[in-house]
Amino acid sequence: AAKSAGRSGFSFFDPSMQAQVRLRAELEAGLRRGLEQDEFRLWYQPQFNLEGKLIGMEALVRWQHPEQGMVSPADFIPVAETSGLILPLGRWILRTACEQLVAWQQHPVLANVRIAVNISARQMQDEGFVTEVCSILDQTGADACALELELTESMLVQSIEQTIDKMQVLRQRGVHFALDDFGTGYSSMSYLKRLPLDKLKIDQSFVRDLMTDPNDAAIIRTIVALGQSLDLSVVAEGVETNEQRQALVTSGCQGFQGYLYSRPGSAQELEHSIHGQR
Ligand code: C2E
Ligand code: MG
Ligand code: MG
Ligand code: MG
Repeated sequence: AAKSAGRSGFSFFDPSMQAQVRLRAELEAGLRRGLEQDEFRLWYQPQFNLEGKLIGMEALVRWQHPEQGMVSPADFIPVAETSGLILPLGRWILRTACEQLVAWQQHPVLANVRIAVNISARQMQDEGFVTEVCSILDQTGADACALELELTESMLVQSIEQTIDKMQVLRQRGVHFALDDFGTGYSSMSYLKRLPLDKLKIDQSFVRDLMTDPNDAAIIRTIVALGQSLDLSVVAEGVETNEQRQALVTSGCQGFQGYLYSRPGSAQELEHSIHGQR
């Protein structure tokens, strides 16, 4: 390959680059087809408080690919974002989560449970976003207070004023907001104070090394203190072991999500495991 490269030493026909472009195009076409063929599923992962009471469910999208099986969102959300397909996919996700809220209204334990939905920057920046959320709430009859939208810090930096406006309109309607993967972005304290937030989610990278890296313990204590002073609840994600849970409790954290409690599963799987626990 070095021989065929131009004077700069860089070849435009780098086969691995070509392969990457092709893979991306295939993935995009696959996503498009998947949307038409109804190949997406919503899985849910419960969140618990200190006493072990269920406090919410995070909706996590899965792609049931006809040949590749269950595809992780980490593999297709980035392409959905850059291609714009996140707009129709995001609509489907919101509608499905709201329909699930209505279905769970009849459930002895899951009635009034809150569902958290991850929102991409691209969705939040879309002009029609607020109208769309409101019309999905209207059409499904879901309780707006049971809907929580998870935003990330990075999307707030881009267009903070418009984002605050949109959040405020939805907050009026009863919708709640969580700041996801907190601690990995660049939220300034003055922004945080102005956002109509309800919850901070400690990024799982801090929980992962909690037992070995004293810096992570310090970061977690700082996030918990910040949450307390801004009157926000704090949920740690990626809690896998009892040791981590204990260290989080010691740091003052009161909300937990992770494999220690439950892996994400279909609505039906979660209903079964809740039934089994009762
Ligand atoms: P996230 O919102 O931070 O979601 C948490 C991720 O951590 C999920 O991965 C979840 O399955 C995983 N997780 C939960 N507990 C544990 C644990 O104890 N240990 C470990 N190692 N991992 C745990 P998932 O479902 O693969 O989602 C990855 C990311 O994809 C999400 O990160 C979110 O940014 C994005 N995503 C997922 N669903 C959606 C969606 O519906 N819409 C959008 N826009 N993004 C989504
Ligand atoms: Mg999330
Ligand atoms: Mg997260
Ligand atoms: Mg994360």
